[in-house]
Amino acid sequence: MSFSRITVAGSGVLGSQIAFQAAFKRFDVTVYDISDEALAKAKERIEALKPRYMADLGASQQEVDDACGRMAFQSDLAKAVEHADLVIEAVPEVVDIKTDFYRRLGAVAPLHTVFATNSSTLLPSQFAEATGRPEKFLALHFANEIWKNNTAEIMGHPGTDEGVFGAVVGFAKKIGMIALPLRKEQPGYILNSLLVPLLDAAQLLLVKEVADAETIDKTWMAATGAPLGPFAILDVVGINTAYNIGLAKAKATGDPLYQAVADKLKRDYIDQNRLGRETGEGFYRY
Ligand code: NAD
Repeated sequence: MSFSRITVAGSGVLGSQIAFQAAFKRFDVTVYDISDEALAKAKERIEALKPRYMADLGASQQEVDDACGRMAFQSDLAKAVEHADLVIEAVPEVVDIKTDFYRRLGAVAPLHTVFATNSSTLLPSQFAEATGRPEKFLALHFANEIWKNNTAEIMGHPGTDEGVFGAVVGFAKKIGMIALPLRKEQPGYILNSLLVPLLDAAQLLLVKEVADAETIDKTWMAATGAPLGPFAILDVVGINTAYNIGLAKAKATGDPLYQAVADKLKRDYIDQNRLGRETGEGFYRY
């Protein structure tokens, strides 16, 4: 089993990157979104990706223009998937939106079409029934700035067919990704299962006033050889996201230390517009 025609559903931040990357690697790609206005935004996003590919990968103008030439845009779902071998879904991280999307998709896609979700926090087993073809459904999870942060975590649910899983691993490699197969469903995949506890532990050390952010980062980098410490990573993730995660943990656990983390991020960072790298200052100045 291999895929040649790809449809990417949802053309926001990640969807437009996935679509452009697949087209850049010579796949025919159809981009689907709910309206022509959304597709117009996707075209702008894709235009903005071209100079990034040229600067970061040394791609030529011809190569990025050719990639665009392999892309089509469609707001009618049936038409968007009529020839698709693989649909990669990158619609909003909302259970009801994804469930409704898979019900509609399952009804119109050809029987052979494989579906993959790019969801960051939801599990494929949550949507397997809604697809109507659980054996042809799994997760294919990319990272933001896919052309340089080129991880692809591939994770099935218990009903995913092994051949489908293998074919998606092969596809991920063909579009230039480091394919990372997971053998079981795991919230947060591999990366966030490792990263989130590290970032939590660092923030707890900070609010307990064990050490300052620079000392904590310096310890991690000097002792492990890592290029960034947890607070420098939090600046990349963005302080708003860190705050939302901290607040959710405080509510779920009732642990006052997590509440203290959230309060500190709000008072010392968000309220001061220190939101991380994107505002030029977070735990560090850039
Ligand atoms: P986004 O909000 O930037 O884009 C979502 C897109 O989906 C929009 O273009 C919207 O018009 C479209 N959409 C809304 N309802 C739809 C529907 N019913 N059918 C088709 N399209 C619809 O979101 P995003 O950041 O690109 O995230 C999309 C998915 O990718 C989420 O599951 C998220 O967890 C995952 N993801 C995001 C990142 C990230 O860094 N942003 C990284 C990895 C994975």
